[in-house]
Amino acid sequence: MSRSEELFEKAKKLMPGGVNSPVRAFQAVGGHPRFMERADGPYIWDVDGNRYIDYIGSWGPMILGHNHPAIREAVIKAAEKGLSFGAATGIEAEVAELICSMVPSMEMLRMVNSGTEAVMSAVRVARGYTGRSKIIKFEGCYHGHSDSMLVKAGSGALTSGVPDSLGVPAGCAADTLTARYNDCSSVERLFEEYPGQIAAVILEPVAGNMGVVLPEPGFLEGLRELCTKKRALLIFDEVITGFRLGPSGAQGYYGITPDLTTFGKIIGGGMPVGCYGGRRELMEMVAPLGGVYQAGTLSGNPVAMAAGRAELTILRDHPEIYSHINEMGDYYRDGVKKLFHTYGKPWFVTGVGSLSCIFFTDSPVRNYQDARTSDTEEFGRYFNHMLNHGVNMAPSQFESIFISNAHTRELIDETLGILESYLKETSAV
Ligand SMILES: *Cc1c(COP(=O)(O)O)cnc(C)c1O
Repeated sequence: MSRSEELFEKAKKLMPGGVNSPVRAFQAVGGHPRFMERADGPYIWDVDGNRYIDYIGSWGPMILGHNHPAIREAVIKAAEKGLSFGAATGIEAEVAELICSMVPSMEMLRMVNSGTEAVMSAVRVARGYTGRSKIIKFEGCYHGHSDSMLVKAGSGALTSGVPDSLGVPAGCAADTLTARYNDCSSVERLFEEYPGQIAAVILEPVAGNMGVVLPEPGFLEGLRELCTKKRALLIFDEVITGFRLGPSGAQGYYGITPDLTTFGKIIGGGMPVGCYGGRRELMEMVAPLGGVYQAGTLSGNPVAMAAGRAELTILRDHPEIYSHINEMGDYYRDGVKKLFHTYGKPWFVTGVGSLSCIFFTDSPVRNYQDARTSDTEEFGRYFNHMLNHGVNMAPSQFESIFISNAHTRELIDETLGILESYLKETSAV
């Protein structure tokens, strides 16, 4: 038995599925999770000493590559002064200033500890500001695990949502309406059905939790117009896209200004951080200025802020990082496309910038229903082949691969070579 398997056996007795977040348990792909020990640049090592080219990057934060010396040093330096004070510190305003200077729609923000918390709080602000209770979200978008976001579309004529998890009250789910990604008319219909009741529309401006699904031209613009017309707020959940598609996130990349934005992942440089913010008048609704209550014992933690400040400063001062990761993303997608063509596979690769995803289906993917046509058993075989040959990717079809600044053309070529060996094998039978 490998050390990973031993640790998994032990962990399973102590934690549900042996993990602290479900996708890590490998249930979608079979086999046992690799327990990781250390990471550096583009590589990650498991406890059995196997090295992998890593395309998870802690699900985004490691955009500069693992164990970046500037971030590591910043964390050590901050830790030497004390781990947490439960009081205001200067660095919190520095990180807020960095974020607001890079993302023009952010005039004021509040730090929290996760993306889940950021979304939960932004939704509360939207409800508090508008005095309305319903939220529109899109099927297949993930916004963390708060009650009102763990909701799926009701069947048939039911337009109000139903719980997507045990333990979410039906009453809570009823206030979350689900629309179809890339379909403005599905949103328009909900606005007509619930006049004056919709507080906000929330979405991932590039969907990264149903595989990668891009917004079609006009979709984000249409939502912006609709929200303005109906006096509802537009919330961009940029927990993945923030500081990844470019220094001002998806909103800068596509040129759309949301009312509220949530960030996470990258802004903590690998530490647990999230934040929500936007227009000043909206954020002035938050306690202690306004009546929307939200608080956090460890929010704005000095060590986490030091990591975030180091990461964001590098991203602000080095625009060539974005040119590099975006170019590597294009290079990867081009390579995959060519291989699928050469081996006569109908599958396709999609993505934008450093976010990519292969769908094992022959039809274009515009929304969650389309994404579900992907052959997940084929994905499982492909995933295990890549893993066994030293490539660590998200253990689920419905995720993205993340390219970092440490990924070189040579590493992408190596990765494509391993994909090619898989295609050769599957074409032989
Ligand atoms: C990861 C993610 C979240 C949740 O963030 P956590 O830090 O895991 O709570 C929310 N929204 C999106 C788009 C995400 O990808």
